[in-house]
Amino acid sequence: MEKIAAIQVLDVPVHPYSMNDAVAYLDQKIQAQQPSFVVTANAEIIMMCQDDAEYKNILTNIADLVLPDGAGTVWAGRKLGHHVPERVAGFDLFNRLLNLAAGKSYKVFFFGAAPGIAEAAREKAEILYPGVDVVGCRDGYFSDCDNTAIIEAINNSGAQILFLALGAPKQEKWLQAHLRELKPYITMGIGGSFDVLAGKMERAPLWMQKYSLEWLFRLYKQPRRCIRMLALPKFVIKVICSK
Ligand code: UDP
Repeated sequence: MEKIAAIQVLDVPVHPYSMNDAVAYLDQKIQAQQPSFVVTANAEIIMMCQDDAEYKNILTNIADLVLPDGAGTVWAGRKLGHHVPERVAGFDLFNRLLNLAAGKSYKVFFFGAAPGIAEAAREKAEILYPGVDVVGCRDGYFSDCDNTAIIEAINNSGAQILFLALGAPKQEKWLQAHLRELKPYITMGIGGSFDVLAGKMERAPLWMQKYSLEWLFRLYKQPRRCIRMLALPKFVIKVICSK
């Protein structure tokens, strides 16, 4: 499958894949035993890149696939005149890849979130996707001196897919720093997805997702996010001005 060219949203590349095409692309990567570092870029991430050159460099030059997560990124791509078929939310892609892994016997590793959460997410994954082989779990609270042991555990597990839940930009920066040492083909930051799968955090109801109001739900559930969310109106203004 030929790779779809990236569009630029505020100088950050975004590959406008549909969910099905993204899953098919990543499946091919595993079969070809080639690496793919995946970022699901919402408006907050694109705004972080405006002030963080290291993060922007990761999305521009190091990530293989930057997908349009969040209503904001899809809106921006379309506003700038590009064809963006749909939103590819990190949590949804995580679930689709678990389903793929269960069907094709790909091994997966869960790294991140508070102690016990990755294990609880694994239990839920085993119920939702029978046969899924989660070969290892590790919480996301560690110091630099643990890195060698963590990488060894991931590599020795034989995982082909690594899901990393440390939040953005920490997860992408950790992956970038260790990409060359890691054996899994697919490496993907998934933010709070283990918390959601484990049932520790609720996801917005479907109607809110449909009407692009997931951000409002997250703000209601986690009011401490309000400072971070100020990035959203700034993002809208910046996109309109960049037209
Ligand atoms: N986390 C972690 N290690 C850290 C900081 C955060 O494992 O040092 C986890 C945290 O427990 C949570 C996730 O990273 O499960 C961050 O979730 P959030 O929804 O904030 O992700 P974001 O919106 O930043 O992608």
